[in-house]
Amino acid sequence: MDGKKLSQKLFVIFFGGFKSKIAVVCGVLLLILSLPSSLLAMLVVIDPAHGGEDFGVSAGRIIEKDVTLRMARYLRDELQHRGISVRLTRDDDRDVSIKQRRNIAAAVQADALIGLHLNSGFGKDARGFSLYLPMVAQQASAQEEQEKILADMVSTNVLNDSIMLATEIEKSLIGTLSLASRGVYHLSTPLTRNADLPTVVLEIGFISNADEEKSLINDAYQREIARAIATGIANSLQQ
Ligand SMILES: [Zn+2]
Repeated sequence: MDGKKLSQKLFVIFFGGFKSKIAVVCGVLLLILSLPSSLLAMLVVIDPAHGGEDFGVSAGRIIEKDVTLRMARYLRDELQHRGISVRLTRDDDRDVSIKQRRNIAAAVQADALIGLHLNSGFGKDARGFSLYLPMVAQQASAQEEQEKILADMVSTNVLNDSIMLATEIEKSLIGTLSLASRGVYHLSTPLTRNADLPTVVLEIGFISNADEEKSLINDAYQREIARAIATGIANSLQQ
């Protein structure tokens, strides 16, 4: 190979590879730019309820702790696609105390904490999903008036953001899957009690209902639910 051919070949190798690398970098940049910038700084903690010795409710082939973990992983994928960072309180079948779960969310200063459960009981016809929010703040424990006002302000923010989160998730679940909503309630659950960050606990469906049990064990259905929840969370965080 003479010098001219060699230099032509080197040119093609260098710039050919260079071009494809540029294309990849541009593709990644375009993807990042196409994501709403407000979501890129967001961090959501997902809590798949139960785990380890704590099975949650079970019926037929369904064990709550397994389904919540699978849905949490799908939800993580869906949120990450939207540019949102995600942390799970557990990513395998293990016992995690409520305190540990809440500490994880607090330690990373999450923008939202989403608890995932399944429901059971209320007769075999009971169906649909429910959402639980923190209770309206009790009297702040601070004695100083100024501290009291500050504590109330924080509580109001947490409450309002939780309401917005639940409203958007409910809207998305109803719109996407025509699922029946049993409503949004202020309820003192282990995760919502004295919440110090926007928190919503979902009971996604009834395993004691034969139709819903069949759906909830289905992989595609779990993904659809996760997609709808992710859309609701993203819509809420963009506001
Ligand atoms: Zn549960």
